[in-house]
Amino acid sequence: MKRIDVATKKWTKLVNTFPWFREYVVLEGGKKIWKSREFYYPLVGMGWYKLIWDMCTKIKAVYDKNPERYEMYNVTDIKEKYGGLRYYTTCSPEEFEEYVREAEGLSYKTCEKCGKPGKTVEIYSWFSTLCKKHENARRKNHKKRFGW
Ligand SMILES: [Zn+2]
Repeated sequence: MKRIDVATKKWTKLVNTFPWFREYVVLEGGKKIWKSREFYYPLVGMGWYKLIWDMCTKIKAVYDKNPERYEMYNVTDIKEKYGGLRYYTTCSPEEFEEYVREAEGLSYKTCEKCGKPGKTVEIYSWFSTLCKKHENARRKNHKKRFGW
């Protein structure tokens, strides 16, 4: 199985396990667009899979006590910015905030590629959180590709 297939399978499991990855219809330019769960696959490396999964598990323990309260709670985007995890939702209640902050904090200490301990490094004006091995690989790749 290819790496990308493994990644897709894992993200599929995530978006199907937690109910706030909702399918819904949005209006875009006057057209109705169906947003399936796959639309919310996090745009981050698999090294952060576990911390996203753990965060969602903690949220779910609270969510399950009163699902009606969280009917409007919905993921809109999960991505990386300046080397850190960004988890965007609508109608996010205060009681979930500590779990989100915890995961976002951990992302700055976790290699986005492999999940091992890492730190945020600047590689040619681009911030990433990586372990030493993946930092070196990224630098090497850049040099090979761009020649500097
Ligand atoms: Zn790594």
